[in-house]
Amino acid sequence: MSVLTTAAPLDVLADFPAIPAGWAYLDTAATSQKPRPVLEAIARGYGETYATVHRGVYQRSADMTLAFEAARARVARFIGGKPEEVVFVRGATEGLNLVAQCYAATQLQAGDRILLSALEHHSNIVPWQMAAEKIGAQIDVVPLTADQRIDLDAMAAMLTDRHKLVALAHVSNVLGSVLDVKRATELAHGVGAKILIDGCQAVARLPVNVAELGCDFYVFSGHKLYGPTGIGVLWGRYELLDAMPPYQGGGSMIDRVTFAKTTYAPPPGRFEAGTPHIVGVVGLHAAIDYVDSIGLDRIHAHETALVTETRAALAGINSVRLYGPADSAGIVSFAVEGVHPHDVATILDEGNVAIRAGHHCAQPLMELLEVPATARASFGVYNGPADVAALVRGIERVTRIFG
Ligand code: PMP
Repeated sequence: MSVLTTAAPLDVLADFPAIPAGWAYLDTAATSQKPRPVLEAIARGYGETYATVHRGVYQRSADMTLAFEAARARVARFIGGKPEEVVFVRGATEGLNLVAQCYAATQLQAGDRILLSALEHHSNIVPWQMAAEKIGAQIDVVPLTADQRIDLDAMAAMLTDRHKLVALAHVSNVLGSVLDVKRATELAHGVGAKILIDGCQAVARLPVNVAELGCDFYVFSGHKLYGPTGIGVLWGRYELLDAMPPYQGGGSMIDRVTFAKTTYAPPPGRFEAGTPHIVGVVGLHAAIDYVDSIGLDRIHAHETALVTETRAALAGINSVRLYGPADSAGIVSFAVEGVHPHDVATILDEGNVAIRAGHHCAQPLMELLEVPATARASFGVYNGPADVAALVRGIERVTRIFG
């Protein structure tokens, strides 16, 4: 079948050397491919400018420290926060564990409640369970609307003054549903709860400004934002970070160490024990520059058009069932009747189309959808109508093979 093209191509495929011609990479929600400026920044970081940060008194180290801190300022500008509120972590998972252990497990008490939603990634479930178990707190789960968004009316009805923390995904990694963060924040703050937003799938797809959103914590991973693996960001309101104990002990996070007593550095250094992922930070800076050079408004419009095309084309195939709302941000989950998603993905791979099949680290959501797994196509800046066409051809082949 022919696919109508409504997406204005961003024409950046040539920036991505790891995407060969004819390969439809549709797994950006798992991790994005890396553009040349990021690869070059990493090569320069190790190959030309490398030294440690924050310690050396020699010029090279001072320069590397400047680059490291410039990246922190760049991240802050990218999300509308302040540099001293930006903590470099290994990824969203570490950021979530940090807040769970250093905020929830220290500030909440037995009987307090934490509110999550039914569509969360395991990274935004398990750390809260671990913290809740420690302190005797309870976890409540906001259900989804009929069109598979976090149900904020239900959330409003559920919230009580025992709820001290709300943690929700900005964009679902399975359904692509976009959260109205402002409203969720107002609801949480209305009962005196803090709110953390898991921005893993949002930062590369939508403009994000934490000051406008009003949330208290925001986390994301660099590798989903066209940057390196092993680097991510926890943003937190300074006064919250300042009231939190350190996550790990070691070098760099101290003010003064004696065997009798150790005092800690202020945020963000307090939460960055040990030699950091220096070149990862430099690579993340380049990734943010790259994304901003295209523009998140354009990226969002581009991905929305690709999602619309994909959903329209797949809706025309009888045996395909689509999940998620029509205005999903860059992600389309689906099932082909009578065919396991792994078989769908394997057949698509034979046609040079790479999608993800599985529970997407969201087993509670799979249970709600009453499926063991879904097939998921997710888009990035490098995708275009040809990738959608290849996906649709692949699904048509799946339906032929399985009759
Ligand atoms: N939250 C969401 C919504 C995600 O999509 C992911 C990654 N799949 C994570 C959290 C965890 O990110 P990471 O594995 O990079 O720490």
